[in-house]
Amino acid sequence: MVTLEARSRVAPWASERAQRRLTELESALGGLDAAGVVRAVADALGGHRRAFDEEGIVLYAGTNTMSPRALAVHQASVSSRPSMGWPGEKFQAGLDHLDVLETLAPLRMAALMDGRYAEVRLQSATLANLACYTAFARPGDTIAVLPEAAGGHASHHAQGAAGIRGLRVVDLPYDAAGFAIDHARLPAFLRRERPAIVVIGASLMLFPHDVAAVRAACDEAGATLIYDASHVAGLIAGRRFQRPLADGAHVLTMSTYKSFGGPPGAAIVTRDEELAERVSAAAYPGLTANYDAARLAPLAVTAAELAETGPAYADACMAGATALAAALQASGFAVAAAELGWTTSHHVAVEADAFGGGDEAARALAAGGIYLSGIGLPGQPPGEPMGGLRIGTQEVTRRGLGPDRMPAVADLMARLLIKGEDPARVRPDTLALRASAGEGL
Ligand SMILES: *Cc1c(COP(=O)(O)O)cnc(C)c1O
Repeated sequence: MVTLEARSRVAPWASERAQRRLTELESALGGLDAAGVVRAVADALGGHRRAFDEEGIVLYAGTNTMSPRALAVHQASVSSRPSMGWPGEKFQAGLDHLDVLETLAPLRMAALMDGRYAEVRLQSATLANLACYTAFARPGDTIAVLPEAAGGHASHHAQGAAGIRGLRVVDLPYDAAGFAIDHARLPAFLRRERPAIVVIGASLMLFPHDVAAVRAACDEAGATLIYDASHVAGLIAGRRFQRPLADGAHVLTMSTYKSFGGPPGAAIVTRDEELAERVSAAAYPGLTANYDAARLAPLAVTAAELAETGPAYADACMAGATALAAALQASGFAVAAAELGWTTSHHVAVEADAFGGGDEAARALAAGGIYLSGIGLPGQPPGEPMGGLRIGTQEVTRRGLGPDRMPAVADLMARLLIKGEDPARVRPDTLALRASAGEGL
């Protein structure tokens, strides 16, 4: 029961904590005229740009900064120019220029991600997953996914897209200590549950999956295997970490703005024409009518750039993660998966129970200018607050904070979390470290 003096008008059903923040803003922002709204919005954008783009150190795993060339080709006015159907037979006449984007983006994405066909029209990976569930399963079918504590995404689970499609969700057997699917139990599990779809790939991916082994078990059970590469797409684009489509995933889904470093949105890539055609129909006219074609310009440019620079970028992201994990461990943090060498991706997970859980620890770091999030850890009991902090090195890599700067990052984090130093004293040092960044990748 919420015991606030006033309930939020935006979301009176939200948590007490959220309603406190909302009501504070609702009273500060109420009654503005149009000029007042413009000022409030401009101030908010300026503050956000300073914090994330100019001053802070962003270790949040699910974000990135686009390259200068990709940013330069994003033309906002294209977003409100509706575009429906294939080039050559558009519902709207006169869109021949956009046809170039709509041809380049899928060709470049398919080639880069190791496939033959790419569906690039969907606005988010959540919708990409829903399109696949629509294409490959019917309501009432079973979908087998990674447990939430192992990074299984909301869009894989009953509260998200899988539930919206009316699928019955079962958790894949998982070996928490090994940070891996339990392959000893997988084949019998799939034979028993008979899922139409198996989804692997997660929001925390310290290590690659054994895709070939999962595919073999899927074949026995008649399941379509989806690899959700939302977080690791930038590594895969760099021909590092693993090759899901070459190793047997039927379909790869991905966010285009996390390690991939492109515009917000999604791609669905496959080598199979029949699966691609089904996905295409689910995307349009299934889940989109008009879509934001402006995304496709930075997407095509990002894909073309990664075809050239991806290997060096992926190597640097992974080297940064290993360096940061080692430095965090040396600074007194408990880094997850220590017995396994912490990570072979760009992700690092840190145990956060000692700091009041992942959310609490992330808030303390944000006060000092370091931005990231909490994450559940595979070993933790279900329903508990997130026991870990999740780190991704993709953005610091792009911004020129390489492996040699990771001890300094770990030191800032230790001052904020382990030594409990006043964030106001640490923040200037965060900004100074960010300002000292070298040439990015
Ligand atoms: C972030 C994420 C998504 C969702 O991506 P959106 O583009 O935000 O919808 C899907 N799957 C996984 C594993 C993710 O980490």
